[in-house]
Amino acid sequence: MNPSFFSKKSNCLVKKYLSLKIFNALEHQKTDSGFTLAQAINSGIKNSDSSIGVYAGDAQSYKTFSLLFDPIICEYHEFSKNKKHKPDISRLILPSLDPEEKYIRSTRIRVARNLKGFSFPCHISLSQRRKLEKKIVSALDRLKDDLRGKYYSFESIDEKELKRLKKENLWFQKGDRFQDAAGINSDFPKCRGIFHSFDKRFMVWVNEEDHLRIISLERTSDISSVYNRLSRALPTLNQNLDFSRDKTYGYLTSCPTNIGTSMRAGVHIRLEKLERNKDLLHDLVRTYNLQIRGTGGEKTKIRHAVFDISNRQRLGISESRIIQNLHNGLLAIIKAEQNL
Ligand code: ADP
Ligand code: MG
Repeated sequence: MNPSFFSKKSNCLVKKYLSLKIFNALEHQKTDSGFTLAQAINSGIKNSDSSIGVYAGDAQSYKTFSLLFDPIICEYHEFSKNKKHKPDISRLILPSLDPEEKYIRSTRIRVARNLKGFSFPCHISLSQRRKLEKKIVSALDRLKDDLRGKYYSFESIDEKELKRLKKENLWFQKGDRFQDAAGINSDFPKCRGIFHSFDKRFMVWVNEEDHLRIISLERTSDISSVYNRLSRALPTLNQNLDFSRDKTYGYLTSCPTNIGTSMRAGVHIRLEKLERNKDLLHDLVRTYNLQIRGTGGEKTKIRHAVFDISNRQRLGISESRIIQNLHNGLLAIIKAEQNL
């Protein structure tokens, strides 16, 4: 293998930063669990339209392959290693964004977590994945009050429940070709499942791209309520689960774009006029350091003018700052839509 294995068309960050010198230094390195450079960059090699192209197989990957991961992380998050990543998940009260619910269909905030002592999903064995699922489910069983709910294993779920979860969009699918090339889909659907609270406002995806994707979701524009539910759930889960965390890089995740807070806070928002004024929308998104995804998630199309608008940066910024920036950005976007 050689860096020239990347397609000529590719503009991914791994291609940009994997110089021959770094390749030679890392080619034969392995983490303690046996994760290699070839595994880390396979997704970027196989998919010429990757934007990052590299995944971590375990927490140690961030150290073993730091010559490659560090510059990618610094560019994506506009971070430098002498900056401090300071978490702050304290409660917030923000004014309503869209009181008449004319634009915002739903608000969703998720964080990713991986457990210490286990490889990440691209590099985990079936028996370890099984052990992990059991551990997570027993922690979920201890949630209280409105967070109480049920775990649905993808292996044993019945047809009727499966249909319902799909219809209510509580389900997650097998990973896309980017995740597939990274190894995330191995043994799918074994040891995968979702937990949702009885009120369906709190969910946990088990063994998707990370060990846990912890999600708070409401069909409203009440960002504070969605955020405060998550900030209540996290310490409770942390009492029973030991999350993988680094002093500089915060929570460690499969994809380096998610490290730090690992938080993606966003809304599904219908913007009929801005859809026809894409330059203005993209200017606003850039100004407030946000990102746009398709209605069905990452790398999907916008349907019926419903955009997924969320924070772009997750490292070097606190959780509560992410929410405040998103709130400011969405106010500006809604105002622009109203003025058109
Ligand atoms: P992530 O990786 O951050 O969890 P994805 O882009 O992979 O997000 O999308 C995951 C799923 O979450 C998709 O089905 C997407 O439609 C759904 N989703 C994302 N944002 C929202 C939102 N604000 N409201 C409802 N569903 C959402
Ligand atoms: Mg995703």
